[in-house]
This record gives sequence, C-alpha cells and structure tokens, in this order.
Amino acid sequence: MPYDYDNQNIFAKILRGEIPNDTVLETDHALAFNDIGPQAPVHVLIIPKGPYVCFDHFAIEASDTEIADFNRAVAKVSQMTGVAPGAGGNGYRAIANCDDDGGQEVPHFHIHIVGGHNLGPMLS
Ligand code: 5GP
Repeated sequence: MPYDYDNQNIFAKILRGEIPNDTVLETDHALAFNDIGPQAPVHVLIIPKGPYVCFDHFAIEASDTEIADFNRAVAKVSQMTGVAPGAGGNGYRAIANCDDDGGQEVPHFHIHIVGGHNLGPMLS
C-alpha cells in the first residue's frame, strides 16, 4: 500500500510555522530542532521539508538533492551538538522509527540524534 501523508501531523505544522520549535539548523530541504521531550542531554530531530512518512518513503521518492541535503544536515547536527567524534564528542545514536511496529509517534519521517551520555546497548 502506498504511503498516505497526513499534512495535519505535528511536524507538518512546525514546517508551516503553525507551531513553534527550537531550531538547531535549517537548510534548503531539512529542518532540525530540539525534541520537546529529550531522552538524553542531546536530542535533536531532523526532518525533511518534503511530505515523507518513513525512511523508505523518503529514500525511494525524494530527489538526490533532497537526500544529499538531508544527510548532510543530520551529519552537521551531530557535529554542531558536539556528540560526533569528528567534533570531539563520544558518539551518538541516530534513530528512525517507522509506523506501528517501529513505535513511530509522528508520521513525518525524522531522524533522532541522541547523545551526550553513554546510551548503552540499543536493544536491552
Ligand atoms: P517518533 O516516536 O515519532 O520517532 O518520535 C517523535 C518525537 O517527536 C518524540 O521524541 C517527541 O518527543 C517529539 N515531539 C512530539 N511533538 C513534538 C513537538 O510539538 N515539538 C517537538 N520539538 N518535538 C515533538
């Protein structure tokens, strides 16, 4: 079944400026902002500006330009927040939840960058 994007989801409202956000980075095709309920000292969400639901939706349907811009934004956030080893940090976790089994709460594709302390093993 093809993806059906709900343009009333909370991140669509953030992109339209209807809900405020704590912006970390904005590029041509991506917006990064602090998570409203941080699970670690650093918890930033990076979203593409286009209407994509999950990672596979984005990676298959977005243009190469959007994908390159988005990937670069994720990497920049990891460095700007100081968690990337390339910026002197101790590392981070990048998470993309998809749909029911993935525990996705907001149906607009996003990557969580989480770090700032030791997160331990992912599946425990
Ligand atoms: P998901 O489970 O969909 O991968 O994660 C959605 C994330 O969005 C959660 O970590 C949640 O705290 C965050 N979130 C939900 N509503 C808002 C909001 O209005 N603003 C911000 N900044 N984050 C939100």
